[in-house]
Amino acid sequence: MSFNFKIVQQLECSSTRKKLHDIMSGTKELLLSEVSPGVKDSESKVTVVGVGQVGMACVFSILAQNVSHDVVLIDCVEDKLRGEMLDLQHGSLFLRNPKINASSDYAASAGSRLCVVTAGVRQREGESRLDLVQRNTDVLKNIIPKLVKYSPNTVLLIVSNPVDILTYVAWKLSGLPKHRVLGSGTNLDSSRFRFLMSQKLGVAPSSCHGWIIGEHGDSSVAVWSGVNIAGVRLRELNPNMGTDRDEEHWDQLHKDVINSAYEIIKLKGYTNWAIGLSVASLAQSILKNSHNVHAVSVNVKGHVGINFDTFLSLPCVLGLDGVNQVVKINLQPDELNSFKTSAKAMEDIQKSIVF
Ligand code: NAD
Repeated sequence: MSFNFKIVQQLECSSTRKKLHDIMSGTKELLLSEVSPGVKDSESKVTVVGVGQVGMACVFSILAQNVSHDVVLIDCVEDKLRGEMLDLQHGSLFLRNPKINASSDYAASAGSRLCVVTAGVRQREGESRLDLVQRNTDVLKNIIPKLVKYSPNTVLLIVSNPVDILTYVAWKLSGLPKHRVLGSGTNLDSSRFRFLMSQKLGVAPSSCHGWIIGEHGDSSVAVWSGVNIAGVRLRELNPNMGTDRDEEHWDQLHKDVINSAYEIIKLKGYTNWAIGLSVASLAQSILKNSHNVHAVSVNVKGHVGINFDTFLSLPCVLGLDGVNQVVKINLQPDELNSFKTSAKAMEDIQKSIVF
């Protein structure tokens, strides 16, 4: 009798719980008592436009390295966008429970601290980066005004190629101050250079110091006069380093840097991992306001003797507001000439762009 009574009690109890459950609309409310609704906005929101090979490598590097825990993906191809979002969300357990959203509507990007643009066409085998100018300018015309509309205080980081020209285009389209528009530039080329140096010397890339500046492309400039390990300038040991008189052929390293993308595109169709890591390193310096120095594409007017608006890479101090300072790099006459030739070439291309 008492046994049956208990069952009746349990049934009543569970039906009451069920009613309560229905009234309160869910298990979540039964489990959790709200104390505060929590903060919705994040200080490190990053939007990445373009979920192709490069965009996804950027997002993955940013999430895996915990650079941001609030990432929005934007693309015009809805299925791919949703697929990439779900795939990443399913890895949340192995990250630090980041917020990962995706939308083709730029409203989702609102309040981003940093917007990374990787959308656009990429080089096909045999094409140079400069072959993409007008096609990717047209893509940016559709993207940049919307990003700025929803995140007027953002820093814009352009990755799409040709990155220096497109950073200029983005700056023009955005109306943002020049310190808040930069391109990934030769941060990647410098990393390639330091890797190749490390292979030649058997020293870790982080201890091999060398800068590639100028165009992210065929006319980039290797600053041989500053290449050093622990402050020991290699040019003092080998005065011909970087010239064609050098019997050790160090200049081949720079040629290999220039050829890297062509070689990888020939082998696998695109480049993505190193640029993804390079962008994550820039995002880290910007979002954490770390004042690290990176070679990035900036408006070089007023620097190294350039008196017109064009974007090329120079070593820059990066912080939350974008570019804080440009390092006054000491260039040899031949290095300076190469830089100026690059700048003139960029200006000529800029004049041909249809906005
Ligand atoms: P991809 O074709 O794999 O991806 C491009 C993405 O952009 C696609 O998902 C496409 O749907 C999207 N897209 C195109 N137009 C769009 C628009 N109007 N709005 C929103 N999304 C749009 O190409 P990828 O390999 O990821 O390369 C992307 C760009 O990055 C290329 O321009 C490439 O040359 C450049 N890139 C730059 C560097 C660098 O160091 N700066 C390195 C590698 C590649």
